[in-house]
Amino acid sequence: MVQLEIACAPRHNSNLMRKSLLSLILLTLSPAVHAWDGHAPLVQRISRMQLNAQERASFAAFADEPDKGMDQNLDASFDPLNERRWMGGTTGSTSQGFRHMYFGGWRVSQPLTTFQVPTQAIGQAPNRVLETARDARKLLGEGNRAEGLRRLAWSGHYLQDLAQPFHSVQIVHWRMVPWGAIGAWPPAKGFENLVKETTRTISNYHWAYEGYVLYHLKEGAFDSCLNDPAMITIQAPATALSSPDYPRELALAVADASVELAPELGRAEMEKYGTRLKESEIDLAHDKGNVEYTPRSAALDQVTCKALANAARATELLVEWALHP
Ligand SMILES: [Zn+2]
Repeated sequence: MVQLEIACAPRHNSNLMRKSLLSLILLTLSPAVHAWDGHAPLVQRISRMQLNAQERASFAAFADEPDKGMDQNLDASFDPLNERRWMGGTTGSTSQGFRHMYFGGWRVSQPLTTFQVPTQAIGQAPNRVLETARDARKLLGEGNRAEGLRRLAWSGHYLQDLAQPFHSVQIVHWRMVPWGAIGAWPPAKGFENLVKETTRTISNYHWAYEGYVLYHLKEGAFDSCLNDPAMITIQAPATALSSPDYPRELALAVADASVELAPELGRAEMEKYGTRLKESEIDLAHDKGNVEYTPRSAALDQVTCKALANAARATELLVEWALHP
């Protein structure tokens, strides 16, 4: 019955239907909560940060704090543009998403990678990078080393989130969307099912990627490549390091680099996991099913080296900005 209805629909109607469906999916898509499953292991491996051992330990200790509840269940005054309606809702763990992501808007030049709803830029992560970096610089300038480093670690956290392509584009690979879920009847049920299933499957690929990176990061697999200047793909930020707006421009440059890396990540992850993470019994966000992190995937490692090198370099530049006004 459903097949017949779709087959009989005029072509422009089916295109419209597909667009409407995607809009509906993305309206309610709840993001996975974290970008990197633990920022401390990443921070500990960045080799050129201008901090001594004690300061680095402090930076690492506070790097995960923004994922521990401070950005959840916020009052509406913190979200004047009501961006949470697109980015995980206003309550619960996913309500922090709007401060940890940035979708820079749909671009004609990359129509599939940058497909997003709404089409304009959404997400507060670059602003959070700037606000916390300014607080850090002020506190450090006043001699409050402890609180200054804490704010700097928060700023580094938001910056590193943007180096994760799942935090800068909504659909990393189109095959991650479970199109078959629409085959429920009646059509309203198909809509609802597709929204629910897309949320689950995209989260599965997001979680699997985080888990893969953390597992191999802790094994030391990325120690050299994340500090390799040849791996960095960030373009120069729009302002000089001396600018008071530099941290935000740096964040936007990192997000742009992640948009460029997203198709490579999507292909590598589909090559490693195929469509297995779309299977109905797998819901990693809710402890259902598990995912193998071994053997390593050369393609996934290659794109991860670039993403982590971007995160590392951006963190070094942020620290430099905060310490040398
Ligand atoms: Zn985060």
